[in-house]
Amino acid sequence: MGHDPELHPTPHRFLPIIEPEDAQVQELKNLLHQSHRTVVISGAGMSTESGIPDFRSENGFWEEADILSKMSDAHLNAQPEDFWLHFKQTFMNPRFMSAVPNEGHLALAEVAAVGKQIKIFTQNVDGLHQMAGSMNVYELHGNIRHAFCPKCHTRYGISHILAEDVPHCNYFDMKGNECQEALHPDVVLFDQMVRHMEDAFYAVVRADLLLVLGTSLLVDPVASLPQYVSAEHKLAIVNLDETYIDKRADLVIHASVGRTVSRAIEQLFSMPGY
Ligand SMILES: [Zn+2]
Repeated sequence: MGHDPELHPTPHRFLPIIEPEDAQVQELKNLLHQSHRTVVISGAGMSTESGIPDFRSENGFWEEADILSKMSDAHLNAQPEDFWLHFKQTFMNPRFMSAVPNEGHLALAEVAAVGKQIKIFTQNVDGLHQMAGSMNVYELHGNIRHAFCPKCHTRYGISHILAEDVPHCNYFDMKGNECQEALHPDVVLFDQMVRHMEDAFYAVVRADLLLVLGTSLLVDPVASLPQYVSAEHKLAIVNLDETYIDKRADLVIHASVGRTVSRAIEQLFSMPGY
């Protein structure tokens, strides 16, 4: 399988790297340096440099009502075979499965490792922040690498999920009966609630720097979070496209997220005390 080019996608095959301006990098570095409680909200733009397509901006994938309805809890319960077929085609394809953290994910983990307090609330289901080594990660939409049994609540990892077309629970009870229930992916489906919103709200209210990375803030409830940054605190946005709250932000950088964050943190580490 190591020779199949589909399994080793070129990291930047969807978007070329857009470099930030030097002055913007410097400003982001200054904001990070001054911050004692940084909160990150990350979205699809955080992972494009890892080769994961941003479905929303690329071809309006998510707008297709047919796919949306197939990615629902109702559909999973009614037709687990059809649900898992589409779920696996969408999320368990080689682009997702072979994706690795990019320089931005790694830099965020490094800056936390030297003692910066940083909480990450991510809309991404790819698990790349944790793979990079970040500890305080809240997955608002769950993680495609985990599944659970709705009946006995046993949890499973990716190898079990991939082993059969429709993954089943193989937990044996005390009497030796196998559970056999069809598993649910540990992701928020389109008819389910986003997770950790209360934590996100309080974190944003208390943050002295909110860093919005790679999300165009189009979908509530996450989209409204930056409105709760208090007036004396800082809001920085790194995203290719404009957002509705750019005018309120202290710093806006329309450039590649991973490259921008990694350059700013590299500069931070060149300062005394890091
Ligand atoms: Zn079970």
